[in-house]
Amino acid sequence: MKAMVLRAPRELAADNVAIPKLGAGQVLVRVTHSGVCGTDLKIFNGAIPVRYPLIMGHEATGEVVDAGGQPGIHAGDRVIMDPELFCGVCFHCRVGQTHLCPSGQLLGRDANGGFAEYVAVPASHVFPLPDSIDGRTAPLIQVLTTCMHAQRLVNIFPGESVVVMGLGVTGQLHVQLAKARGAHPVIGITRSASKRELAESLGADLTIPGGPGAIEKVREATEGRGADLIVETTGVVPSLSDAITMARVGGRLLLFGIITAKEGALPFYDLYFKELALINARVAKPEDYPNSIDLVQRGIVRLEPLVSNVMQLGELNEAIGMLGSDNGQRMKIILEHA
Ligand SMILES: [Zn+2]
Ligand SMILES: [Zn+2]
Repeated sequence: MKAMVLRAPRELAADNVAIPKLGAGQVLVRVTHSGVCGTDLKIFNGAIPVRYPLIMGHEATGEVVDAGGQPGIHAGDRVIMDPELFCGVCFHCRVGQTHLCPSGQLLGRDANGGFAEYVAVPASHVFPLPDSIDGRTAPLIQVLTTCMHAQRLVNIFPGESVVVMGLGVTGQLHVQLAKARGAHPVIGITRSASKRELAESLGADLTIPGGPGAIEKVREATEGRGADLIVETTGVVPSLSDAITMARVGGRLLLFGIITAKEGALPFYDLYFKELALINARVAKPEDYPNSIDLVQRGIVRLEPLVSNVMQLGELNEAIGMLGSDNGQRMKIILEHA
């Protein structure tokens, strides 16, 4: 089969490799579409260590071609794969925290993933897609599951004010989820004018350019208090610092953007004095797939405006190059596997 194979950091090329052999409990999926993500860039350039050769790709949808005799799954089913594998027997798995399994593996990082013609996936990790969900947007459902998992960890009551910092793909999804939960106002913050416009078209009540003045504008929009909840999606320390300042006394912060910095300045005293709750969220759980698919099917979360580029699988190098360059217009890159 055709696959994009990573043989060393920055050494990625199309190749012909064997179709994966099905292990016990696995099904074979012919991948039709995949999403390219910042994690792929980090694997590509070696920032995330992996074993080579590797087929990356953890956001993938396609069609079951061999159901491996698994009940309830048939050849021809359109599915999305949940790339987060877990052992099922450790402490975390047994208490329902499968996403935190210490032996967990991510397809596309720790095992071969979806940037190929076919991928082998445990039957428990494929979820059926309704016909109404277009293949060109469906890989984004994996991203949506991570936002849904994160928002499950913070109660949002109708009428609460929510600030979403950063309006990239995940920020736009958080805006839509917060609206779906009845938050008001939902305030989006980014420097990019086009992303602010997009967030407003997806339901944000107010958007604010980042930078000086943003904190004051949030205060004005929240009766001088600051926001009930801040969802930080950028993963940079100065933004977290602003988030602490924007939260109301007794508010909470959802740290969604992955901060890799080891040090940085934060208004630590405010954490105490405002009695802020800091909530971190990692990946997603299987339960988030059916719910995310349902929200997309019912049009409550819209994915198609978040796709900015559709490219071919063979153009993966170019796609990853685009991720590495700062472009205020780019949103999700979807690959078609013709
Ligand atoms: Zn991803
Ligand atoms: Zn486990």
